[in-house]
Amino acid sequence: LEALRTAFSGLNTTYPLADGSTSKRTYLDSAASNLRLSVAEDIVQQAMAHYANTHSQLHFGARIMTEVYHRSHDIVADFVGADDDDTVIFCGNGVTGGLNRMARVLTEQRPDRDVVITTMMEHHANDLPHRKHAGEVVHVPLEHDTNGEAGRVDMDALQEAIDAHADRLNYVAVTAASNVTGIVNPIHNIARMAHAVGALCVVDAAQSAAHVPLSMQGNDPEERIDVLCMSGHKIYAPGSPGVIVARKDLFAGLEPQEVGGGIVEFVDTERYVVTDDLPEREETGTPNLPGAFLLAATLYLLGRIGMDLVAEDERELTQYALTKFEAIEGLHIYGSHRLEVAERIGVVTFNLEGLPHGLVTAILNDYYGIAVRNECFCAQPFVRQLLGISDERGVAPADCTDTCGPEDAAAGDGAPPREQPGMVRISFGLYNTKEDVDRAADALRSIIDRADEFRNMYEPVGDGS
Ligand code: PMP
Repeated sequence: LEALRTAFSGLNTTYPLADGSTSKRTYLDSAASNLRLSVAEDIVQQAMAHYANTHSQLHFGARIMTEVYHRSHDIVADFVGADDDDTVIFCGNGVTGGLNRMARVLTEQRPDRDVVITTMMEHHANDLPHRKHAGEVVHVPLEHDTNGEAGRVDMDALQEAIDAHADRLNYVAVTAASNVTGIVNPIHNIARMAHAVGALCVVDAAQSAAHVPLSMQGNDPEERIDVLCMSGHKIYAPGSPGVIVARKDLFAGLEPQEVGGGIVEFVDTERYVVTDDLPEREETGTPNLPGAFLLAATLYLLGRIGMDLVAEDERELTQYALTKFEAIEGLHIYGSHRLEVAERIGVVTFNLEGLPHGLVTAILNDYYGIAVRNECFCAQPFVRQLLGISDERGVAPADCTDTCGPEDAAAGDGAPPREQPGMVRISFGLYNTKEDVDRAADALRSIIDRADEFRNMYEPVGDGS
């Protein structure tokens, strides 16, 4: 692992700091996108020397591309323990694209089952697609520790919700790990509970795939995951190719997501016949070959390193960070960090007392060269709950209009920008070390010490009057 830590692009990039000096960036924003594993790019470069369209079939370049593309599917299948009953589909637009597609597929495939259960900790990508397609979506609450901090999904509440909707329940959609607290969910237990009433289990693996071992298979067939989605940019590959791993039979008899070239057996002006083969049926058009190759090559390398080792390494760093951050007076960590670190990935969210999250994040970047993310992390209901803000429909949106982009948008009424509720998130990748954590902890301590100075420095000009 030590040798690998330097094999990522962007680690040595330097940026200007506000004091006129330059600094090598400390990248602590892996939960948004991991830095790229450049060794994987070197491997893919060899294949890309033969670049051609897979649909051309007979010349060498096309044959090589087709072979590498097939192999890319196999690597993904191996990585998540998929079997012959599953298909691996490359899609665009990451996990968001995958979950939107599967929400539609499962709704069309099982029209009598119009309820979806999801949880209070989901990213919008594992919530809104279900709301768009299902008749009803139930959000199951989370466990809370003695300090009132949210932990895993409340399994008793989940069981109650499953029982209450047993006949109508289509699937339970759950994240394998939260992008807000880093907490890992027992997805195979959840699959067992869903299967007991004939429902399915859909897993958002965006945040877990590169951090903890992940398998479609549980201890027995009842614990098997039915659908799982991943994104390239969350697993050290560039951009947002997405991948869906799902039971083949879930697509049976349905129209493909899109129709066009590459998936048809016959077309005349009256009719067209689409292949029954998967994944071809769901992968129309020219595939995003570099995206799929890089996603697969990266997974291959992660598999070779061993996800147990990767997870162990991240656990140690996370434990170190939690201990360091807990010792900082005026820093509040969200989520039940007293859980075993085995049940968390390397994500730590917090606020500094009396300091807006946007200010802290800007100072970390501008004065200390530390890249982190802030605001609601595309999980508004969860973040609002962690912050203790009402989730009443019609009340909250004005308070937390998370665009997952720049905040502090001017209110438009001449008043100074108003910060929206949120928090600061530090998250780790394989390249992070204890020195990065030390640097962040020192910076946060110094921000607390210099709070007034920083507040004045970043004060919006004018008060709107
Ligand atoms: N689910 C979780 C838990 C995530 O963290 C993210 C990305 N922040 C997504 C889904 C969406 O992934 P993508 O941006 O690749 O669509």
